[in-house]
Amino acid sequence: MDQHSILIIGGGIGGLATTIALLNLGYKVELIEREIEWTALGAGLTFNGATARAFRTIGVLDEVLSAGFSHGTSSICDKDGRVMVESSNEEVYGPGIPPMGGILRPVLHDIMKHRALSLGLNVRTGVTAQSLELNENRTDVIFSDGSVGRYDLVIGADGLRSQTRQQIFPDAPRPTFTGQGSWRAVGPRPSEVKTSALYFGTEFKAGINPVSQEEMYLFLLVAEPNNPWIDPADWPRTLRAKLAGFGGHIAALRETLGPDSRIVYRPLETLVLPGPWFRQRVLLIGDAAHATTPHVGYGAGLAVEDAIVLAELLGEGLPLDAALRAFMQRRYQRCAKIVSGSVKLGQLEIDQAPVAQQRALSRELFSLIQEPA
Ligand SMILES: Cc1cc2nc3c(=O)[nH]c(=O)nc-3n(C[C@H](O)[C@H](O)[C@H](O)COP(=O)(O)OP(=O)(O)OC[C@H]3O[C@@H](n4cnc5c(N)ncnc54)[C@H](O)[C@@H]3O)c2cc1C
Repeated sequence: MDQHSILIIGGGIGGLATTIALLNLGYKVELIEREIEWTALGAGLTFNGATARAFRTIGVLDEVLSAGFSHGTSSICDKDGRVMVESSNEEVYGPGIPPMGGILRPVLHDIMKHRALSLGLNVRTGVTAQSLELNENRTDVIFSDGSVGRYDLVIGADGLRSQTRQQIFPDAPRPTFTGQGSWRAVGPRPSEVKTSALYFGTEFKAGINPVSQEEMYLFLLVAEPNNPWIDPADWPRTLRAKLAGFGGHIAALRETLGPDSRIVYRPLETLVLPGPWFRQRVLLIGDAAHATTPHVGYGAGLAVEDAIVLAELLGEGLPLDAALRAFMQRRYQRCAKIVSGSVKLGQLEIDQAPVAQQRALSRELFSLIQEPA
């Protein structure tokens, strides 16, 4: 195997998955992460069956399943939690691969980080790539700590506000606000909550999803046409008010919310960078290239799939230029369809379209998701 030297910028889900996939193949990988404290903030993360399939490919599924929670059913409920439709999904993604699950984001991060470190990852935290000098066959990097490096391939996995994207495509479109805000909060899991449930409220859609034996998380999507800034100190009070119309387990979790609760509010922004997502020997993956909304629980899955496809192509021994072109052929359409479908689903929610119409689009997206990456 040709031993390329590879730099990964960003130690989130996409950067870590790429690191693991390439280290599994025996590549030499360096990773830089901007944050000194290399951790993941946030509440719960939903994974669908394709994400679970991708976790299995990079070898972390067993750990994810034992630290998280998985299931094969999901329910659509009215605002008080009365089940209107229950769908049971078999293991359509393969034996032992659950169609749906949840995990706390920091727990997933720790699993992936420890796997990468155990494979011999060379990581520097608190460091960014201050400048990238692109050449035909290599990229020269000056790091923020003053050190320098030369790489056959640089992978920008630095998220929605990617500095790498800005450096290689200064005129790239900026992420677009979708008109919705997303709330998440973690709370205790009552023993009877064993699956995810989506509650259709009069104005908003909310839901619950178990993330471990002890905990579940609540999510709420709200139309916020003016994209207000909400002071984090007000998050508990604001979220409680927005959940006022819900009953069932959502009402019970709402009553636990206070200043110490793990709550996250984010305006939803998306991006599909026009292809190609590489310039000479610098490639963008994950949210840096295609950022989606949480509607089908797949942003993380798409980032992990990017890692898998790239590793597969490099593992086949293709020359780098050919591998990058083949990567685009495999990834662009799938990612673009998921992002545009998710945005459409959000728009149906904003428009308060009939439940049947929202479910039909959701089913369409899930059949696309089931196809191999
Ligand atoms: C509100 C919300 C809820 C979501 N819920 C889900 C869900 O339930 N399920 C799901 O699958 N997806 C979900 N997503 C999407 C998912 O979080 C992302 O798609 C996924 O995290 C993308 O991974 P990434 O590695 O590309 O980026 P990130 O996870 O953002 O990681 C980027 C990393 O790069 C680092 N970094 C940034 N800039 C630099 C720099 N200049 N130099 C070095 N390092 C840098 C950051 O510190 C970070 O560690 C959600 C997104 C949002 C906004």
